[in-house]
Amino acid sequence: MPPYGSRYFATGEGMTEEQSYEGSCLCGAVGFAIRPPTLFCGHCHCAYCRRAHGAAFVTWVGAAEGRFELRDGQVCLVWYPSSKQSRRGFCSKCGTTLFFASTAAPGEMHIARALIAGEIDRSPAINTFDDERVPWIHGAADLPAYGGDAEELAHYRDIPALEE
Ligand SMILES: [Zn+2]
Ligand SMILES: [Zn+2]
Repeated sequence: MPPYGSRYFATGEGMTEEQSYEGSCLCGAVGFAIRPPTLFCGHCHCAYCRRAHGAAFVTWVGAAEGRFELRDGQVCLVWYPSSKQSRRGFCSKCGTTLFFASTAAPGEMHIARALIAGEIDRSPAINTFDDERVPWIHGAADLPAYGGDAEELAHYRDIPALEE
């Protein structure tokens, strides 16, 4: 059993498909669901988030523990203690960074927003640790933009998925 995972496992009550936002890691081994309402949604620019996700910033959705349910992945979900008070959950099979939990936010599970397809009950409404924001994402919306069907991206398409 993962060192920090047991309290986040399904309680047995379960949630219905219609009520919840579902998501998973890249390989699908770790699946989860959140039952709305969520608590918040925001972009975090702190160095911990940036390094853990290998990204300019991480967009988090907060959920009360009781509204978060792990559906799969008890074997693959691993918790890394990123500081004395915080831990970050990732998939040991595909490496996807998924969750954040901390004694600084008791009773909450923070879930990477990008893992949930489609709309949720709120949009990002805050930038945290904004003083740590990297300068190189400034102006991203003004750069040349290619859609997935662009000829420039042809060599990234039509690549068959790996066989299991
Ligand atoms: Zn995975
Ligand atoms: Zn952060």
